[in-house]
Amino acid sequence: AAKAAGRGVHRFYEPIMHAAADRRHMLEQDLTEAVERDGLRLVYQPVVSCKGERVTGFEALLRWNHPLHGPISPGEFIPIAEESSLIERVGEWVLRKACEEAARWAIPARVAVNVSPTQFANPAFPNLVAQVLAQTGLAPQRLELEITEGVFMAEGSNAERQFETLKRIGVRLALDDFGTGYSSLGYLQRAPLNKIKIDQSFVRGATRGDNQNAAIIRSIVTLAEALGMETTAEGAETEDEIELIRRLGCSHIQGFYYGPPLEVSELINKMGLDGNAANKVGHKVSRAP
Ligand code: C2E
Ligand code: MG
Ligand code: MG
Ligand code: MG
Repeated sequence: AAKAAGRGVHRFYEPIMHAAADRRHMLEQDLTEAVERDGLRLVYQPVVSCKGERVTGFEALLRWNHPLHGPISPGEFIPIAEESSLIERVGEWVLRKACEEAARWAIPARVAVNVSPTQFANPAFPNLVAQVLAQTGLAPQRLELEITEGVFMAEGSNAERQFETLKRIGVRLALDDFGTGYSSLGYLQRAPLNKIKIDQSFVRGATRGDNQNAAIIRSIVTLAEALGMETTAEGAETEDEIELIRRLGCSHIQGFYYGPPLEVSELINKMGLDGNAANKVGHKVSRAP
């Protein structure tokens, strides 16, 4: 009887599982095509210092407009790419594109690039970074690689050795989405990090009267400061959130309040990255009304 019931359940779920598997397969095929045929693009979101409210850099975020299905979120396609070797090619495209574009900005703002654990674990990764910097002419200290706690757990990875080589090259390192993974404090010691990015879930909770979230942010900031690292609070959308984050002592803020991720052309118009209006980057941002 149990077997029959089991089979019934199986039969019931099968079409759904097939639909999900089909979509993943379709997206994997089409993403391969997109990365080879210039079907991806980057948008950039400003990162603002709390002290003086100045734009110090931009995070590059990947966008894919599928020819049939429209925009697909990186939250969906990045995990698919990570499960195949495709993440290597996608990651290399992102790194090269971000460095090329940032090298053409009129002001020396930093550019932050997300690096997946699989990509980071490749022993050839530091070499690729050095090569791309040389080819694009971007100064190493303008490139910030955003890694996650996953890099410490990636199979066959020698994270320490990768860190050492990248440090020698002179790029900056940020730990993204801090607090959402295993968050072993030992990781903070093992990596020569310049920055910790505090996940937006803590920011969101803290202004809704959740003192525990505020306490968590405060302790991350204390820890980061003691270790000589900067902190960026992610996902700040409201004036209340900005005020709280400042009060909790974060050094930087990134969120829709200061600006959503923008196309390069929009950046040039709004942020003045064309050289004439260098009054925005490195200078006070104009607050959203
Ligand atoms: P992430 O690296 O933590 O990037 C921040 C995400 O928060 C972005 O979502 C950004 O648009 C969103 N965000 C920023 N400010 C706000 C805000 O005020 N409110 C809200 N609700 N959201 C905000 P996005 O672009 O959808 O990217 C999602 C994730 O996909 C990224 O999280 C990152 O993990 C991954 N990703 C994006 N681009 C790349 C890439 O080039 N390579 C890799 N490996 N992963 C990427
Ligand atoms: Mg990031
Ligand atoms: Mg993040
Ligand atoms: Mg994230």
